[in-house]
Amino acid sequence: MPGFEVFGDEERKEIQDVLETGVLFRYEFGEQRKGIYKVRTFEEKFAAYCGARHAQAVTSGTAALKVALIAMGVGPGDEVITQGFTFVATWEAIFDVGAVPVFTEVDSTLNMDPADLEKKITARTKAIIPVHMLGAAARIDEIKAIADRRNIPVLEDTAQAAGATFMGRHLGTFGKCGTFSFDAVKTMTTGEGGMIITDDENFWRHMSEYQDHGHDHVANPGGRGGEGRSFIGFNYRMMEIQGAIGLAQLAKLNEIVASQKKNKAAMKAAVQQLPGVSFRTLVDEPGDSATFLAFFLPDAEQTRAVNRVLQENGAGAVCFADNTWHYYPKWEHLMTGATLTRSGWPFKDHDGRQRVIYAPDVLPASAGLMSRLLVYQVPVKLGGERLAQITAALAKAATVR
Ligand SMILES: *Cc1c(COP(=O)(O)O)cnc(C)c1O
Repeated sequence: MPGFEVFGDEERKEIQDVLETGVLFRYEFGEQRKGIYKVRTFEEKFAAYCGARHAQAVTSGTAALKVALIAMGVGPGDEVITQGFTFVATWEAIFDVGAVPVFTEVDSTLNMDPADLEKKITARTKAIIPVHMLGAAARIDEIKAIADRRNIPVLEDTAQAAGATFMGRHLGTFGKCGTFSFDAVKTMTTGEGGMIITDDENFWRHMSEYQDHGHDHVANPGGRGGEGRSFIGFNYRMMEIQGAIGLAQLAKLNEIVASQKKNKAAMKAAVQQLPGVSFRTLVDEPGDSATFLAFFLPDAEQTRAVNRVLQENGAGAVCFADNTWHYYPKWEHLMTGATLTRSGWPFKDHDGRQRVIYAPDVLPASAGLMSRLLVYQVPVKLGGERLAQITAALAKAATVR
């Protein structure tokens, strides 16, 4: 997930355009900005790249999730279904709009298990958020079909999968909307930043207004101060320098993905040395953005033993079973209901009534998969020396029993 690896002169040139006008803001300053609208242009180009009609830039991928949920009308009393293997941001946003997150199992795709989704839907389910984890598609066609049958909108958390496709179509374009993140570890970066794409103009308009204190952005003699509003909003505005960086990074996205594919193939060949290894199910391998290489070993014990050898030889893999930011039972603040509010919200109601309790052992299928899973991040730039080191470490680990 490495947009930062390719940061260079192209980004500096785009930033320089902004520094020269001194207009750091996306709205207003008509004369001073000399026709330069970096955030707006980034939105247009990002939408076109993905094959979506509209895009709304915001300050982060987490803000993107929240703004999208708000535009869906999700709030207190509602449930939103997502998966138990995701970054904490996905469910933070659900809580932040007042709704309650419900977690599904993941299957060997490491994404939402459609069969478990079906079981978790209730009369209160107001949105479904499949997450395209680790750069590759969820079973989005099956998930969409289940959601459509019940008339529940799908929000695709595409934070980790910019540039990835399913059946030739960009991820984020299957549901009502798709959200993206451009933070430090993502496939393209703007430092901090996020985007929502959608084909629904009215939905986009609501997001555009919400992220700017409700401003309706209708031209009027009073300028920005004379703009009207039809509901309360908040401020999640992206700034021009982020838009500028985004334009340069977007122009590199296809090259980033192409390099990752090449490097992933080389790393996969090395991993194949491990006895009993199997790979994550990819529902559309050509559409994989190849930001990660995920593989399973036959059991938990062997997985730990293999990774110990890999670590000792300078090529340790990520073990998500131990990772406290991406995996349900490791979210101790969720399990214990830790919050700064006096009332205990969002775990308790204002009157002290318990709203929801999370137990660590309710996703056994995911636990089984996670205990056998190791993951390598695939760099854009993989030197021969580093590949040789990884290959040698894997050869040693292949002798572990
Ligand atoms: C990174 C990430 C986010 C949040 O993005 P930020 O820009 O860091 O707020 C949301 N969901 C997933 C799956 C992510 O990986």
